Amino acid sequence: MREEIISENLLKDYYQIFSNPQTLKDFFSYYEALVRFVKKHPVEFTDEVKDEWGLNELLDININEYIVANPDICLDMEAKRLVRDYESIDTLAMSIRDTLWDMVTIYSGKDCPITPNDELRYIKIKYADDSERLLLECAGCGWTEDVEGNEYEGPFGRVFPVNKDDLEKYIDL
Ligand SMILES: [Zn+2]
Repeated sequence: MREEIISENLLKDYYQIFSNPQTLKDFFSYYEALVRFVKKHPVEFTDEVKDEWGLNELLDININEYIVANPDICLDMEAKRLVRDYESIDTLAMSIRDTLWDMVTIYSGKDCPITPNDELRYIKIKYADDSERLLLECAGCGWTEDVEGNEYEGPFGRVFPVNKDDLEKYIDL
């Protein structure tokens, strides 16, 4: 974890997202505003920070293909939820990652075997050779399994959200 105190100007810019009704009018505008914010501040959101929190994978997806119909987010409540203190760039990056994921997550309908209050979500893992694989993951504890329900222990790669087309490709629904 980096020790620097997060800059006030960065936070001010972040908070503006939540005072702009245009930004919060729908999930597409909101997702785009968060992406714009991260890209606008490369000094703070370094490649290291983006890598560590899996942000790169979320910044460049075609949101028209990924935003789900009913994300687990209440746009009216976002200011209340997210305009708060962040002690480091890591905390902020993590929070943004979680919010972006909330808007693109397709859930599997299956509970996590370790933390049963969490529902497993679909993820797509991309390996160094560009091949990919569909898996189920618990955002709470990190449990990962394959589509047959066996624990997945690797190899690991970059983790991407899954959209409907991916699902149809990998699973007979
Ligand atoms: Zn879990």
